[in-house]
Amino acid sequence: MDHTKINLLVRLQHLDNQIENIISLQKGLPEEITALEEDLAFTGKQIDARRKVADEHLKIRQRLNETINECRSKIRIFKEKQTLARNNKEYDALSKQIEYEEKEISQAEIQLQDIAHAEQRTIETQQKGRQLIEENRYDEITEEMMPDDVLQQQLEDLGRQVAHKKEELESIVVETADEVNSLNTKIEEQREIIQKEAKRLLDKYDHLRSGVIQNAVVKLNRNACSGCNTRVPTNRHTMIVQGGFYLCESCGRIVVHERLFDEAEN
Ligand SMILES: [Zn+2]
Repeated sequence: MDHTKINLLVRLQHLDNQIENIISLQKGLPEEITALEEDLAFTGKQIDARRKVADEHLKIRQRLNETINECRSKIRIFKEKQTLARNNKEYDALSKQIEYEEKEISQAEIQLQDIAHAEQRTIETQQKGRQLIEENRYDEITEEMMPDDVLQQQLEDLGRQVAHKKEELESIVVETADEVNSLNTKIEEQREIIQKEAKRLLDKYDHLRSGVIQNAVVKLNRNACSGCNTRVPTNRHTMIVQGGFYLCESCGRIVVHERLFDEAEN
């Protein structure tokens, strides 16, 4: 067996591990930021939706009040005309017009009441939410129950948290940028070499790492694959000790002697 090929691959794993170690310095910050940003967007949407409803109510109220005012001035004019009516027919016709305008007014007033009721319900729902917050019964609070000011506060808090975490991550990224760049260059070069020398091994490596596995090449540890702890058959130990590799029957990882990793480091 050509052992230099596996040495090339162990070197690649060693470099990829170093990148992994640097990424782990980020302590899950990218995932945390994504989650916070999702919460932030969700809160923002809730606030926008409430604002939209409030704007809509305001517009409708203005329109209805205008209608009522128009109807009232018409009624005033009709009543004046009635005092000048020359006969019953004319008077009755004006009465009908007044009646029509009065109906318009009462319809508009009903709609205004509906809006007032809806707004009252919103206030009461939010009061209920505030009560639950005071009693620490957070799991009973629905979206609608969150008081406007609490929601606004939440938006600001989330915004601050996102900014803070981003700053923290950014400083780590900046600090490690040179190292990451240099490692990426080395990885690129190493891959080119293996591509020429041991393409099938590289394919196997990439295939393993295309899933959740990052450590495609692992050390033999206490006669077991250190990736999944499955025992390696005794008749394979000699080959591993001699610098060969073994494909774990359980997880598919490439198992080598730890000495190869030491060599790859130098
Ligand atoms: Zn295994």
